[in-house]
Amino acid sequence: MIEFIMSPVVDLLLELIALPSINPAFLEGRPQLTGEKRVSDLLECWCKKAGMDVATRLVLPGRHNLFASLAPPLKPTGRVVLAPHLDTANIQSEDLLTPRVEGERIYGRGACDTKGCVAAMLTAMARVARGGVRPERTEIVFLGLVDEESGQEGSRAVAASGWKADLAIVGEPTRLKVVTAHKGDVWLYVDTRGKAAHGSRPELGRNAIEEMARVVAALGGPYASKLRAKRHRLLGSGTINVGTIQGGNQPNIVPDSCRISIDRRTLPGEDEKTVARELRALFRARGIRASLSNMRGGSCVALETDTALPFVRDFMKAARQRRPCGVDYFCDAAVLSSGGIPSVVFGPGDIAQAHTANEWIATDSLETGTDLLEAFLRTLS
Ligand SMILES: [Zn+2]
Repeated sequence: MIEFIMSPVVDLLLELIALPSINPAFLEGRPQLTGEKRVSDLLECWCKKAGMDVATRLVLPGRHNLFASLAPPLKPTGRVVLAPHLDTANIQSEDLLTPRVEGERIYGRGACDTKGCVAAMLTAMARVARGGVRPERTEIVFLGLVDEESGQEGSRAVAASGWKADLAIVGEPTRLKVVTAHKGDVWLYVDTRGKAAHGSRPELGRNAIEEMARVVAALGGPYASKLRAKRHRLLGSGTINVGTIQGGNQPNIVPDSCRISIDRRTLPGEDEKTVARELRALFRARGIRASLSNMRGGSCVALETDTALPFVRDFMKAARQRRPCGVDYFCDAAVLSSGGIPSVVFGPGDIAQAHTANEWIATDSLETGTDLLEAFLRTLS
């Protein structure tokens, strides 16, 4: 264990950064750097010492969600969950695994996404536990989730299990704003088929790349304009990005296939089915022949949580925020929400620093986040 002499929340964050937990999807064959278990084991001890009841549930081989609970003295009538993820993005250099305090900033992988949230949430809970006055009938649960950065298998397992709560505060760097809406995300392949022929006689073939060029033009032109015309009050408009293209073998063969992958950021109410329907209509109207297929299994729908729900209202009040906020990025909140747990996103730090080669979090954001979370937990009855 590394010894630090900062405040407790800073100490915990430094310890967490020093334990690598890169999502295994991004780094194969380096078990000493990947997976959430090292972090989870440390937190298990930490939570037990702070007086919490700890349980784990296996999600993927060697990877489990961590539940640490402050049980109320009376029969519980409510449950509030603090739910950050324990995995991180990959590293650009191993220097990111050595935590560093410089001035008012803490540097290292996970500092803001999202070990800062883990440290703030647990420190707030520990203060409530230590204060001796727990909420009488509300259970507070810290839920450390695995795999957010890749397939969100941790939150998907919780949603599928039917486990319920009245509010989940999902930890992500929101600059201490309570976020009640975020965009969803649909990844699709679009394929065009042609007919191969000798490059000197292109009229004998059908060029799949030329057909795809029409697809790309339609997506970037009329389709993107249509998306811009529809606006959500917190999220703005949906977007489309063509991210990859593959097709053809060599200059003197008319290509018979071409594939692009697209990333369509969605608004509440849109999903894979509605997006596929829009695209088919777009292609049909232009006489384009192209097929669609989904790139991934789990659905990533948008989040929109009702701000009139009592726990949401109370949390916004504790965070001293009048109006709700929306963000562009997808996270575990939408998954938990689709499992029937009203969810918001909240945490110290700024998403602009997440995943960067120079990831950092400001210590005052970390301390203020801890105070706001503690203030909210103390309002629970
Ligand atoms: Zn994150």
